[in-house]
Amino acid sequence: MLQVDARELQRGPVETVGRLEADDATFEGLGLALDGPVQVAGRLTQSGDQDFFWKARLSGRLHGSCRRCLTDMTYPLDTDVEVLFSADPEAADDPSVYPLEAPVSRVDVRPAVREELALAVSAYPLCREDCAGLCPRCGADLNAGPCGCTAPER
Ligand SMILES: [Zn+2]
Ligand SMILES: [Zn+2]
Repeated sequence: MLQVDARELQRGPVETVGRLEADDATFEGLGLALDGPVQVAGRLTQSGDQDFFWKARLSGRLHGSCRRCLTDMTYPLDTDVEVLFSADPEAADDPSVYPLEAPVSRVDVRPAVREELALAVSAYPLCREDCAGLCPRCGADLNAGPCGCTAPER
């Protein structure tokens, strides 16, 4: 459940668990190359009169190309988020706070899923930490072994 009733939050923290399909309207216009759904697991807590603290983990997979060897791949995206939702007018100027309309009847965490996921995406993933990349001279994929022109210099 990614939309929580404010009355429920008055009684105590609420688990926010759900999944958003790659074509969910939440991700519209972001241009994310999602490979499958995004899993959301978190907990929403009322932290003030009109403030709600959300701590969650977002997990999904993305399509991309390795920045060194350019191989097409899918890679995991996992990010921990800690954000504040607030209907307090004084918080409205704080760009890190997700605004709510007062009086708060429910808190929808999906705008935060959208933004935090977009922030967490690496535009330049690696297929693996020690990817050898391409030879700058002949363009051979050095993960497959040395090419003719990379003989060690003496
Ligand atoms: Zn690579
Ligand atoms: Zn080469």
